[in-house]
Amino acid sequence: MIRHQVKRVIFWGICGVVLISLAVLAGWLLLRHYRGGGTGGSLLPTLVAIQSAEPATTFTYPLDPERFAPYMPQQTGSLDVDTLFDVQNPGLGNHDKCFVNHAGQQLPFSQPWHAGEDWFAHAADGKVQWGRAAGEPVQAVANGVVSWAQNLGGEGNVLIVEHHLPHGERVWSVYWHLAGVHVAVGEAITRGQTLGVIHDRGLNSHLHWEIRTFATATELFPPDSAGGRGKCNGYVMGVGYTWDDDPARAHPGYWGYLHPSEFVSRHQISQRNRMSN
Ligand SMILES: [Zn+2]
Repeated sequence: MIRHQVKRVIFWGICGVVLISLAVLAGWLLLRHYRGGGTGGSLLPTLVAIQSAEPATTFTYPLDPERFAPYMPQQTGSLDVDTLFDVQNPGLGNHDKCFVNHAGQQLPFSQPWHAGEDWFAHAADGKVQWGRAAGEPVQAVANGVVSWAQNLGGEGNVLIVEHHLPHGERVWSVYWHLAGVHVAVGEAITRGQTLGVIHDRGLNSHLHWEIRTFATATELFPPDSAGGRGKCNGYVMGVGYTWDDDPARAHPGYWGYLHPSEFVSRHQISQRNRMSN
């Protein structure tokens, strides 16, 4: 009788130890999985980065505006191309752009509206310095999180950074034609931090940058639009231009692009004071 009870105590004791061991093992495996110690554990680092991003209270230009600016015909040089925001460029000629009008014709490059600004290097007299922008560090316009990075080959890399404004709104800054990208997707970055350097494209070395109210340009244009009919959709970063048969839908502002320099100057609180000190 007593031996039976001893056996029972030993039996349940062993069962208890086994159950506790299994529970500890399961807990350890779960912890390891969610910490990303196993395979494909990139979820948590991304979330941590987004949570730790500082709000974008102040904006700055991606390059020194004393040495870099858009190209303006007559003022910057003799070339008939204007690289400000929301301009059309007859000087870009008739080779096709990705938009297709309602008659099924591909749109010449001279017709689309520029959705960003192209900044080239300038000399002190305001004249363009072709090719001089290559290798120049490009800085983040505000605090945020890198949401997209892609190598486009000859055009260099494109980066998209998400910014959380103080009142809950969000905007995205986009940087085209970067070489050597210094940041990673999911990384929290601060205003002024170097994102990469301008890709060397010879005389055409420049930064195309945008400020916009949408994260990805995939399916930006509906099927009944010139962008949807052509090959302008399906790219997260967009194509840098807008156009439509309906003049009211041609302008970049209709699709959610903002004027980059105007946006920065409106959100440049107390920068001047800080710089004069
Ligand atoms: Zn451009």
